[in-house]
Amino acid sequence: MTDPVRLLIHGASGRMGQALLRLSAAQPGCQVVAGMTHRAPAQRVVDGVPFFSASELSGIPAFDAAIDFSLPEGFDPILALCVTRGAAMVSGTTGLSTAQRDALAAAAASIPVLWASNFSLGVAVLAELVERAAAALPGWDCDVIEVHHSGKKDAPSGTALTLGEAAAALDRPVHYASIRAGDIVGEHSVQFTGPGERLELVHRAGNRDIFARGALHTAVRLVGKAPAAYRVRDLLD
Ligand code: NAD
Repeated sequence: MTDPVRLLIHGASGRMGQALLRLSAAQPGCQVVAGMTHRAPAQRVVDGVPFFSASELSGIPAFDAAIDFSLPEGFDPILALCVTRGAAMVSGTTGLSTAQRDALAAAAASIPVLWASNFSLGVAVLAELVERAAAALPGWDCDVIEVHHSGKKDAPSGTALTLGEAAAALDRPVHYASIRAGDIVGEHSVQFTGPGERLELVHRAGNRDIFARGALHTAVRLVGKAPAAYRVRDLLD
């Protein structure tokens, strides 16, 4: 029997971090060995998992992969730690700067990395449908509308930007609209509007577990891969 993949959850006290910790028990082949939060954690050990603050990087035990769902401010140190430790990195943190995206691409020369704006299967299929619609409907207006909970900081969402890229075939301009309201997990609608008709493609996330399961699944599969930048679809099986 192979040893379980040792995971570090970065952003462990957040909405996504909590979902990752809860669902990791049901994910075969992995074990969470540490959680990291921005400030000193209220509890040092949660369900047997030791927690560390961002200023305690040197104390983090050995791990095979980090799963990062934090904020752009926390991204650089965790990427650097993965490179130093030779560990794989899965990140779903959105709102990264161009410099941070470049740093991730540079890290892919020495470790396997995977960044995705969305880890749900439905959104992966939606992006393919958007590409098809964009190719079939040249000249139609394209608008991406996204709705998220009022705590979400970046706008447009990372997923909206990914869908916009999928729609941008033939240099079509894409317009974005963002709504922040209540506790909505995430809704994305891509509209193509032509003379007298409109096509709408919509995805609604019912809970965060869909993203957490996707991140756990890909982290387990990323460990042991050659250094490179991977996509979710490379690791689905
Ligand atoms: P949240 O605000 O609930 O949690 C943020 C976490 O990051 C907390 O644990 C906090 O302690 C930590 N953090 C903040 N600043 C930090 C720093 N400087 N150093 C270390 N840790 C720091 O946020 P959330 O709803 O869990 O979302 C987290 C991120 O994941 C956001 O960027 C969000 O857009 C993204 N997200 C991505 C997907 C996806 O599928 N890719 C899905 C949902 C959310």
